[in-house]
Amino acid sequence: MKILAFDIGGTEIKYAFCDENFNLTEKKSIPTNAHEGGKRIIERIVEIIKSCNGVDRVGISTAGQVDSVKGEIVFATDSIPGYTGTKIKEIIEAETGIPAAVENDVNSAALGEAIFGAAKGCSDFICLTYGTGIGGAIYFDNKLFTGSSFSAGEFGHIITHAGGRKCSCGGVGCYEAYASAGALVRNVAEKLGKKMNGREIFANFDNPEIRLLIDEWIDEIVIGLKSLVYIFNPSLIVAGGGIMNEAYITDEINKRMQKELMASYRNVKIVKALMGNDANKLGAAYLAAKI
Ligand SMILES: [Zn+2]
Repeated sequence: MKILAFDIGGTEIKYAFCDENFNLTEKKSIPTNAHEGGKRIIERIVEIIKSCNGVDRVGISTAGQVDSVKGEIVFATDSIPGYTGTKIKEIIEAETGIPAAVENDVNSAALGEAIFGAAKGCSDFICLTYGTGIGGAIYFDNKLFTGSSFSAGEFGHIITHAGGRKCSCGGVGCYEAYASAGALVRNVAEKLGKKMNGREIFANFDNPEIRLLIDEWIDEIVIGLKSLVYIFNPSLIVAGGGIMNEAYITDEINKRMQKELMASYRNVKIVKALMGNDANKLGAAYLAAKI
């Protein structure tokens, strides 16, 4: 079986072929050009599918909340204008005649980690990605749990500081306003008056001011994770996002969680995601293979 797997993000659309053994080949990437709108993105994807020979299935991982049964976007922010309501599966199948599966990006990544990566063999875990914001996914009883309107696991917007900082969702005090990689970058810029990205911040790990900000930021990560552990009692939490390549972060989270959690919850382990950029495509390809 030849699957064409896409990962639609805010800045890049990545895609690759995937065989029945889930080996990804011919990996490519094009700019999303999000400003052109959701309709144009799907038109370009249809053009790519039509230009490839012998495709049996299409798997799509995409930003936004996704009705994975109908394969359409339930809600997307204005970062991709007009994306909400886009019937991705219907359009692709009508235009190409090839069956397609569509899933939200963090859910796809969690599935990729569940089948092939950091959570292989684990029946129940949660997954969080720490980037500009915080994404989340719930894998429960060997499958994704998506909620009553396909939006479960939006962990970035649980409230960890009532009445606190403004958040991109329109609310205040959300977890991602304090614990995302973006929040760390902003804290460093505010305190040191210097704009540094995550990698630059960790390159200055020995600077006591930066070290303090990193440690305070990890406390914020732990605050949210503790609530999630008390809700889900998972044995595993998979933490994704480029910043998690800094082993200090997951080491510290594990240490602090062990100290702070009630004893019966301390079996939980926090590990970094292993599949990187491929997790989304593999998860989407896995869903497409099952159609
Ligand atoms: Zn929020």
